[in-house]
Amino acid sequence: MAFDIQTLRLDFPALAQSVNDHPLVYLDNAATTQKPQIVLDALSHYYQQQNANVHRAAHALSGQATQAFEGARSKVARFINAPEAKQVIWTRGTTEAINLVAYSFGMHSLKAGDEIILSTLEHHANIVPWQQVAAATGAIIKVIPLTATAELDLAAAATLFSTRTKLLAIGQVSNALGVINPIKELIAMAKAVNAVTLVDGAQAVGHMPVDVQALDCDFYVFSGHKLFGPTGIGVLYGKRHLLEQMPPWQTGGEMIKRVSFARTSFGELPFKFEAGTPNIAGAIGLGAAIDYVSAQDRTALAEHEQQLMQQLLTGLAAMPDVHVIGRPAVGAVSFLVDDVHPQDLATLLDMQGIAVRTGHHCAMPLMQALGLEQGTIRASLAFYNTADDVAALLAGIDKAREFF
Ligand code: PMP
Repeated sequence: MAFDIQTLRLDFPALAQSVNDHPLVYLDNAATTQKPQIVLDALSHYYQQQNANVHRAAHALSGQATQAFEGARSKVARFINAPEAKQVIWTRGTTEAINLVAYSFGMHSLKAGDEIILSTLEHHANIVPWQQVAAATGAIIKVIPLTATAELDLAAAATLFSTRTKLLAIGQVSNALGVINPIKELIAMAKAVNAVTLVDGAQAVGHMPVDVQALDCDFYVFSGHKLFGPTGIGVLYGKRHLLEQMPPWQTGGEMIKRVSFARTSFGELPFKFEAGTPNIAGAIGLGAAIDYVSAQDRTALAEHEQQLMQQLLTGLAAMPDVHVIGRPAVGAVSFLVDDVHPQDLATLLDMQGIAVRTGHHCAMPLMQALGLEQGTIRASLAFYNTADDVAALLAGIDKAREFF
């Protein structure tokens, strides 16, 4: 291993605490990740030294804040290999980014009978906005089904695409099952019928390098807080010709060129889509998170995470009463324990300082498709987890079992 995990963990102050008199074992990374000190420092440095509104004022602090804010945009662009920083729009997160595309692109470009393709694995954030678009425009939603192993059925997907398909909106990695979707193949199917493509990268960015030009998707969205950055900041990347054609979504200050009561003209990209004072600190914090991740040996981190994943899957497979759902590949592992309600197990794990999540994981249609209406227990990994964390979870399940 090219890094020392204990040294790396010192960068994340929240990991060093005790919870319920046990050292914290944080396995809820799919919900949100912990933040390294340099992100916390970037936030407090901004508020202590640079706090000013961006873009407008002719004074030194505003200049510094603008530079840091726009510098963070360039960091995002480099991180996902966007051709230009202008193609990076700040949003509050994945949800807002998808809503922006749904309301600006979807509401204006789709017509009755047009088809939107989603998948059974989608998070509600990549379902509900499209249902709103469908309800308003008469577009129809088609859903890629699952195979018997709860992966996307590519053969069935191929039959859904036609000249009626106008949009594919697809997650890169499932937050509920940790499955990596075959997005390259699906994007190719969408392109073959000239459909626009949106990739929900919320669960991918923290685990794997992302190259939007190699993916050749039209839109890519993610949340800063799943990439070791602050909450309340996220990204919409879009192809320039589409972003330029799309009307603004929210309107007001910051996003205009000229306003009179007779007429308003809108700003250029990216400002056209950024109404109001943005989350300046959040953007700068996300830039710091990207600096942090980029400075690591990402291949070594990914290998480390894979080892933990194998340790977890092997440990769970050795428990006859435990059932792993699907074939987790990265991040999240969903499972059930016979005769134990997920919430009861999570409570007993929490008493041991082990943080996991239970429920439908904002993927109710997936849970319905799997016949798992009571949801699952989900443990989700990040690169700062250790073999001890995984061992603690496995031992925690054994201990909880004694209780039942
Ligand atoms: N999509 C996926 C795959 C997610 O995991 C999440 C967060 N759980 C979202 C979308 C929504 O992200 P946010 O709540 O940060 O907007």
